Amino acid sequence: MNKLAQLDQQYVWHPFTQMRDWLREEPIVIVEGEGPVLRDVNGREYLDANSSIWTNLHGHRHPKINAAITAQLGKIAHSSALGFANEPASLLAEQLVIEAGRINDLQLAPGERTEETARPVNNPVLGKVFFSDDGSTALEVALKLSYEYERRVQKNSEPRFLSLEGAYHGDTVGAVSLGHIDLFHKAYSGLLFKSDQVMAPYCYRCPFNRARPERADARDYRKCNWECVGKVEQAFEAQRAAGTRYAGFVFEPLMQGAAGMIPQPKGWLNQVAGIARSNGALLIADEVMTGFGRTGVFPGASQTKATWSTLFASHQEGVQPDFLCLAKGLTGGYLPMAATLTTQSVFDAFLGEYEEFKTFFHGHSYTGNQLGAAASLASLDILKAPDSIHARATLETTLRDALKTLWELPQVGDIRQVGLVVGIELVRDWKTREPFALAERAGIRVCNAMAKRGVLTRPIGSVIVLMPPYCTTPEQARKMVEALKEAIGEVFGTRTG
Ligand code: PMP
Repeated sequence: MNKLAQLDQQYVWHPFTQMRDWLREEPIVIVEGEGPVLRDVNGREYLDANSSIWTNLHGHRHPKINAAITAQLGKIAHSSALGFANEPASLLAEQLVIEAGRINDLQLAPGERTEETARPVNNPVLGKVFFSDDGSTALEVALKLSYEYERRVQKNSEPRFLSLEGAYHGDTVGAVSLGHIDLFHKAYSGLLFKSDQVMAPYCYRCPFNRARPERADARDYRKCNWECVGKVEQAFEAQRAAGTRYAGFVFEPLMQGAAGMIPQPKGWLNQVAGIARSNGALLIADEVMTGFGRTGVFPGASQTKATWSTLFASHQEGVQPDFLCLAKGLTGGYLPMAATLTTQSVFDAFLGEYEEFKTFFHGHSYTGNQLGAAASLASLDILKAPDSIHARATLETTLRDALKTLWELPQVGDIRQVGLVVGIELVRDWKTREPFALAERAGIRVCNAMAKRGVLTRPIGSVIVLMPPYCTTPEQARKMVEALKEAIGEVFGTRTG
């Protein structure tokens, strides 16, 4: 066994990993990356088909991001945001506010108005940025700020939060409390505060969807009456009836990631955001996965000609949240850094005389880190360049076309694509939607078979995730899908139909 693999197995405890399984086989040791390619210690190359757990945007070792970090290293790597401002963090905060403000350009763009963007939900202006370290901390910040805002400004002594079934907002105790994946949350229930959950759209397995399975994304052939929206209305109504209200409504816009890449039908977010707002709840958008263009080029009736695109999924439904939580792709997937954007009125609730202690007593040692901020600025520049927008639009179309070839496999139940994020739900038989038993480890086996074919990704249960870096060429994207197809064939036999 390779020496590094040996050391890993001797000392390292991996996240979200059954270490007994891990210790059975020699792990892949990554030593290099370039573009969408990862190279292991034995010189083998793999396509990074999940962007290194949904973080990488423009590929590994991108010359512009490398140069920006190197230039910053020539000045300083880190100084504290407790007591001092710094150059790249100031510049980055401004850029993030500008990008978040582009929802207004969206609503003004003639000819690009869609049903979803035509109904702005009383949108606030996001003008303040609180930096932290990762997705979980971005949510913790939003949670604490909204909690305290509700107490101070709305005089609600017991602020409560509503989030979605299957929600995942991170691993820290506050973020876990907002989540609703039993597997991750049950064990720690004694540590958590109570938050309410409400039905989230999951058209493929929705009890209200009367459609029989078809060979298409379940959102496209669903037969329902938007009962999921009705459930949200009911949740808020129940609070009203009890004489109280939710302080915050927390959601992953357009697609819930860790829940199993579960997309929302067009118009869902706009409707529920309107309901939440009219009930006085602050909107907390977790764009940790969806942010920075992951959900596609928008607006984009003529996508390949688009010269700009909003970077945020919420905007695609005309929704500007009160808290926009960003991490993962913020730095282009280079360094741990996060940002929580919020409004002037939330900011103002924390203003006061020193001795009043209205200060937001929260923050981390590496808040506003210069290397992360420099990488983020470079990443934003790349994102806004027309050739990157064009490449993203092309990659989205390439994936859409390539994925069609998977429908001939009986184990492919649902293919869910939102922009550059894809979840493929594997089932025992598409005609019955019967799931695989957990012990069959269907997703893991398929991903292992993909790895043998030079494509790396990680499943969520029986859902295979494809989320390539934006620099992935059409040929490489097709290779990812082809490897998945072959892997399914290998694991379950080659029967098609
Ligand atoms: N929110 C969402 C939507 C996520 O997908 C994740 C991570 N998968 C998180 C929050 C937590 O982010 P992190 O792992 O960086 O703490």
